[in-house]
Amino acid sequence: MAQRQSIHPAGSSGYDAHHPPSGELIDKCVHCGFCLPVCPTYVLWNEEMDSPRGRIYLMKMVAEGDATINETWVSHFDACLGCMACMPACPSGVDYAKLIEATRAQIERRYTRSASEKRFRRFLFSIFTRPARLRALLWPLRLYQKAGLEVLVRRMGIPKLLPARLRAMEALLPRVPAQETLPELIPAQGERRRRVGLLLGCVQRVLFPQVNAATARVLAAEGCEVVVPAAQPCCGALLVHAGEEEQAVQFARQTIDAFENTRVDAVIINAAGCGSNVKEYGHLLRDDPQYAGRAKAFAAKCRDVSEFLAELEPRAARHALRLRVAYHDACHLQHAQGVRTQPRALLRRIPQLELLEIPEAAICCGSAEIYNLVQPEAATQLGDRKAAHVAALDADMVVSGNPGCLLQLQSALPRAGRKLPVDTSSSCLTRLSAAFLYDVGALPALLGSLLRL
Ligand code: SF4
Ligand code: SF4
Repeated sequence: MAQRQSIHPAGSSGYDAHHPPSGELIDKCVHCGFCLPVCPTYVLWNEEMDSPRGRIYLMKMVAEGDATINETWVSHFDACLGCMACMPACPSGVDYAKLIEATRAQIERRYTRSASEKRFRRFLFSIFTRPARLRALLWPLRLYQKAGLEVLVRRMGIPKLLPARLRAMEALLPRVPAQETLPELIPAQGERRRRVGLLLGCVQRVLFPQVNAATARVLAAEGCEVVVPAAQPCCGALLVHAGEEEQAVQFARQTIDAFENTRVDAVIINAAGCGSNVKEYGHLLRDDPQYAGRAKAFAAKCRDVSEFLAELEPRAARHALRLRVAYHDACHLQHAQGVRTQPRALLRRIPQLELLEIPEAAICCGSAEIYNLVQPEAATQLGDRKAAHVAALDADMVVSGNPGCLLQLQSALPRAGRKLPVDTSSSCLTRLSAAFLYDVGALPALLGSLLRL
């Protein structure tokens, strides 16, 4: 990492010299306001400083020494979901993703959060970036659920007495799934067409291991040999998007190392947040002479599973599924990666499946990685708004390509009066064969059902 300088004489930049938000990118904003209607925080609060245009203006003010990085200034960036809905809406091509990433890294270096805020964030990062620690927490959680305490606690209204952040954590608790470990090599069915690596994700591998297993089965059924490096760490998505750059860089290097000698044609990702991060490794590691080139090469191989499958001529037989399925666009898939048509194309290939569009698809569901834990009020409002749109469709199932969105929807839909299956950890196939009521699932799991795997 480049040498940092701490400079802030009057009238000069309030950023340090390590990759401040680019003045060139800031100046591309012509203040037209086309991004405002798709920005969730502007939609909620109608406040200029909580819009993309307002936030870019705030970045400029600090760059020019007209504002300092203080609590109020930081609060507008903490409120940003990082959903990137503003990017495709911008006719001037402002790269807000690069701007917010640089701004957040500056905040974490130059602003002192309160001790409790620091502790909470440190706790989240230490758990959600370490699958073994997250898995260790599942045992008490399983006990809590199996002993009926969760139902009892909720019936007694105890969560309402908790502080907002603890209440949000309680509301997001998923049913604890059975843990499934994938072998390091899964052979292709029939003649091998591709050799691919599978990125497991952190939350995905612990809270939705069945989605990783379904992804591998679908890829194998389509003629892909699947390599699952056991040594792969967290990809660092959560950290990059929260401004924790140094730790994120370490994880990125380790992820590249884990896949480097696997000789795969593509690295497949089934979690939108991870996908948007690994595709930007070239940018993240641009200062590292040992890794910059390797990071670019790695990023060039990364594909969301829906993107990859849509490019591959279908080989496995598709079987009919008589279902009304609402597809929920994860922000890091639709806005950050531009992947919108491919998941829909895959779903449309399923005979008898009726694909439903959710109104306001561009607006975030409020999950946004750790956003629903650090900004619970706004996240709950956005979750309820999304759940109301989904509920009005009267779908049999809602499908998405990101574990954070699944957790958020599983939590919000019951508040909108939709009953969810009791055991969301069972395989999608099991749930489909049962008389299910309303379901939240991931695309690979649905495809696994379609292929009768
Ligand atoms: S990333 Fe999302 S919340 Fe943040 S400014 Fe852009 S649209 Fe608004
Ligand atoms: S749409 Fe682009 S140019 Fe227009 S205000 Fe928003 S960020 Fe600026």
